[in-house]
Amino acid sequence: MKLRKLILVFLLLSLLPVPGEGVSASAGEDTAVRVGLFLPGAGTGVSSLELSSPKGFLFPFTGETSLILSPDQDGGLTVKAKNGRLLLRHGGDKPLSLGGKDGCVTLPLGGKECRIPGVLSVSVREGKLRVICTLELETYTKCVMGCEIGTSASVEVRRAFSLLVRTVALHGRKHQSEGADVCATTCCQVFLGNDKRDKENDAIVDSTKGQYVTYKGEPITCLYHHSNGGATCSSAAAWGGTVLPYLVSVSLAESEEFPSKVWEKTFTQEELARRFPALEGRLLSLTVSGRDPYGSDYVTLLTAADGQGNTLQVKTSEKIRSTLSLPTGNFSFAYRLTAPAVTAQGTVEEQALLGYIDSEGKYVPFSSFAEHPLTSGGTAGADTLVFYGKGAGHGVGFSSQGAEQLAAKGVKYPDLIAFYFPGTEIANLLNGF
Ligand SMILES: [Zn+2]
Repeated sequence: MKLRKLILVFLLLSLLPVPGEGVSASAGEDTAVRVGLFLPGAGTGVSSLELSSPKGFLFPFTGETSLILSPDQDGGLTVKAKNGRLLLRHGGDKPLSLGGKDGCVTLPLGGKECRIPGVLSVSVREGKLRVICTLELETYTKCVMGCEIGTSASVEVRRAFSLLVRTVALHGRKHQSEGADVCATTCCQVFLGNDKRDKENDAIVDSTKGQYVTYKGEPITCLYHHSNGGATCSSAAAWGGTVLPYLVSVSLAESEEFPSKVWEKTFTQEELARRFPALEGRLLSLTVSGRDPYGSDYVTLLTAADGQGNTLQVKTSEKIRSTLSLPTGNFSFAYRLTAPAVTAQGTVEEQALLGYIDSEGKYVPFSSFAEHPLTSGGTAGADTLVFYGKGAGHGVGFSSQGAEQLAAKGVKYPDLIAFYFPGTEIANLLNGF
């Protein structure tokens, strides 16, 4: 960021009302984004914070290269030098603005020291420090690219991705009550300042400068994931509610070259029962009762029963995913059991098999992606249940792996976006917001 712009943002920031009272991003080329680095309301507030800036801080800490911030009892905050010398007691009526002379402030984020290219606004909420960084949208986009897609994806997929990163920030509604457009975690998009910034990604972001994705003129609810097993999950299947017209299920037959991630996770019946505490450890059966009605295989209704007439239903693929701590909501399950079976040599031996024993005591082999009811009482040797799944992430919206498959066939970034977000358009901030 150029110093002139930084000072502009700094001055602008000092004129802004207290975050949380209806601040919005400014329009035009220098659109600002407010990134909640530490948000007490989102559970990420901190009790103290050490900041550094090797070339010194901007006014009023021009002689300092290191500051320690902590909340006061009265809603204000205290700033000390590293040696404990008191530098400032700041009242709680408005946030304290902090910037580095070189345009960056270094602070711990995501378990490492990160250089943050923006101006910080620090206040106290719920006894914790709330820290919001204001920086230019283009700079923010360059920072997030390294954290969310890395450098190995093709140029065309990264071009598409740069629009998604901007769109998430411009849509930013999750943390408005805390005065931020986005937070710095996977809840919105991972932001670690310049930590994973890369020259090639910077050039890719420059090549799409100002572009973002809209539906009926507004920034879309922009979601992306790694892979989904062949069809994206609709927003309604993932979280309930009405399906957003541009977040329907979109199918793309997978190629061997760009496969979805596949995973498996094994539970003992006791482990599984603990996931449904309302059944008090008496889980008897588990059934997939519904999948995405809008076209994907994501499970939207899972029924657990305890054999005493009590049943429990978990709705939406994301709720099911979190209940069972699964990588995705796109799965099937089967028993893993030991049973006599015919080997390739024609002999009969005890073998580890996947399948289940039916009500007549006959072994039924597991067939890919078909589910079988868990009936613990009647299944000899079945001590574990294996979940098999495809994809990574919630499966909604843009698939980076699917986009890679399309890009390999020559599809350009506007068409990648049109494929995964049907009915949307690409707008440009340079033409007004
Ligand atoms: Zn968030």
